[in-house]
Amino acid sequence: MIAAADLGLLDGFERALLNGRLRMAYQPKVSLVDGSLKRVEALVRWDDPKLGAVPPSRFVPLAEKYGLIDPLTQWGLRTTLRQWLTWRDAGLDTCLAFNISALSLDQLDFPDLVERMCRALAVPTERLVLELTEGATQPLVKLMDTLTRFRIKGIGLAIDDFGIGYSSLMQLRQLPFTEVKIDRFFVDDAPSSNESAVVVRTIIDLAHGLGLTVTGEGIETVEQLRLLRDMGCDVAQGYLISKALPPGELASWYKGWQARWPSLIDDRPAIAPKPRGRTARPAPAAAPSHS
Ligand code: C2E
Ligand code: MG
Ligand code: MG
Repeated sequence: MIAAADLGLLDGFERALLNGRLRMAYQPKVSLVDGSLKRVEALVRWDDPKLGAVPPSRFVPLAEKYGLIDPLTQWGLRTTLRQWLTWRDAGLDTCLAFNISALSLDQLDFPDLVERMCRALAVPTERLVLELTEGATQPLVKLMDTLTRFRIKGIGLAIDDFGIGYSSLMQLRQLPFTEVKIDRFFVDDAPSSNESAVVVRTIIDLAHGLGLTVTGEGIETVEQLRLLRDMGCDVAQGYLISKALPPGELASWYKGWQARWPSLIDDRPAIAPKPRGRTARPAPAAAPSHS
C-alpha cells in the first residue's frame, strides 16, 4: 500500500509532469586537461508552489514505482535534445548526458525510441551519453542486449555513482560502457583519506586500462580538482565548477569558467594524502590534448 505522504507527492508530481511544470537544469562537465566544456548533464527539477523544490531523489523513485518513469524520461529527453539545438544555433556546440532509469532498459525497443527521438530533432546520437545507476533489483548485467543496442547506434553509456551500492568492477569488464563516473563519496574525502584516494586512483587506472573515460563527481574544492587531475582523471563535475544551471545561463557561465580555469590549476602542488611515486601532470601548455 502506498503511504499517504507518497500518494500526495505522486499526485503532485503527475500533475506537474502533465501540466508542463517540470524543468531541466544542466550541470557542466569539464575536461581536466584544459578546462574545456565536455558535456552537460540534464537534471530534472520540480518546483512545487506549496512544497517548494522537491529533489529528484524523492520523486524519481516514486515515478519508477508507479509507472510514470517512461513519460518522465520521454519528456526529459525531448526537452534536452531541443535544448541542444538551441545551444548549437547559438554557437555552443556541446554533448549531452542524460540519466536513465534501469527500469526503462527492460524494454528491448527502448534504444530504438531514443534513436528516433534524436533523429526527429536531427541531434547526432554521438552527442548523447546515457547515465545509468545500478539498482538492487535490476543488475545491469541482465541488460546486456539493450546496452549493446545503444552502443551500435553510437550512443555513449556511463555508469553513474560508481564505487558505491551495487556497481562492481566486473560490470566494467562485461558491459559496453564508455564512461565511469566516480561517486562523490570517494571524491569528497580523497584529499584527506588515503583509503579513498587509493579507491579513486584504482578506479581511474582500471577504467583507463579498459579504454573508458573517467569523470569525478561532486568536486567541491580546489584540492579535489587538483588531486583528480594529478591522478589522470579525464573529466570533472561538481559545485566547484558549477551547480546545475538554467539553460540560458550556460554560455555566460562558460565565459567565466574559462577565465577562472588557469587560476585553479596554477603551479601550487596538489594536496595529496601521501606521495605515491608518480609525477604530477605537466603544466597545461605542455599537456597532451586528449579528451
Ligand atoms: P546523479 O545523476 O548522480 O546526479 C548528480 C547529483 O549530484 C545531482 O543531484 C547534482 O545536483 C548533485 N551534485 C552535483 N555536483 C555536486 C557537488 O559538488 N556536491 C554535491 N553535494 N552534490 C552535487 P540531483 O539533481 O538532486 O539528482 C539526484 C539524482 O536523481 C541524480 O543523481 C540522478 O540519479 C537522478 N536524476 C536527476 N534527474 C533525473 C532525470 O531526469 N531522470 C532520471 N531517471 N533520474 C534523474
Ligand atoms: Mg547522473
Ligand atoms: Mg552520480
